[in-house]
Amino acid sequence: MSNARRPLVAGNWKMHGNLQHARELAAGVARGALPGSVDVVVCPPLCQVGAVVEVIAGTPVQLGAQDVAPWVDDGAYTGEVSSLMLKDVGCAYAIVGHSERRGLLGEADADVAQKFVAAQAGGITPILCVGETLDEREAGKSLDVVGAQLQAVIDVAGVSAFANAILAYEPVWAIGTGRTAAAGDAQEVHHHLRCLAGESDATIAGSLRILYGGSVKPGNAAELFAQADIDGGLIGGAALQADDFLAIVQAAANT
Ligand code: PEP
Repeated sequence: MSNARRPLVAGNWKMHGNLQHARELAAGVARGALPGSVDVVVCPPLCQVGAVVEVIAGTPVQLGAQDVAPWVDDGAYTGEVSSLMLKDVGCAYAIVGHSERRGLLGEADADVAQKFVAAQAGGITPILCVGETLDEREAGKSLDVVGAQLQAVIDVAGVSAFANAILAYEPVWAIGTGRTAAAGDAQEVHHHLRCLAGESDATIAGSLRILYGGSVKPGNAAELFAQADIDGGLIGGAALQADDFLAIVQAAANT
């Protein structure tokens, strides 16, 4: 991990748990020994954001949403929540293009790009997820697939937008499966993504934080985060236990 890029560890709680669980989990993270050198973000289900805001107030823990509307201004968009609304309730980040939304809800690259732009327009930093399926990896297409997913957003938002964005490489086959990418394989993809951004702007590419996500646990985080182009993690399952999440944050601080 480069010293120039401050590590970031974000917990994606997905659609898990009730309000009490959210409060306890947020309190467990906020009470932890949080290293000052790492940005720590929790992304609860949207309906629990208000409760989590109260719990983390006055602590270094930051708040993220798991998704954002592709529109910024108020309007007749039933069920949607804009970046301005997220900002208003205390969110600083929003995940866009998570593979579960791409796969289960049919979000295409164009939708993801629109959400990326809308997030920034409302003052929210997007965490853009890219990643290949197992079939794509086995066919040797990983670099092409993730490159195309990133390029689709660069084409719409411009590379300069990545001065205020986070990228996350999340191989679909590693998410929630317990099967983590080998550190060297993940590094290869991260390096490819940075080079791709660098073709448009080397300075922005050099400071772009690229997280790895996919079955990161306390036991494998250090090796992943030690890679030159891995700047932290997007954590699913292990983010649901405060102790595990804090151990991963610590691993980011140690590398
Ligand atoms: C995720 O949900 O983005 C994720 C990486 O999940 P997990 O850590 O459980 O694989």
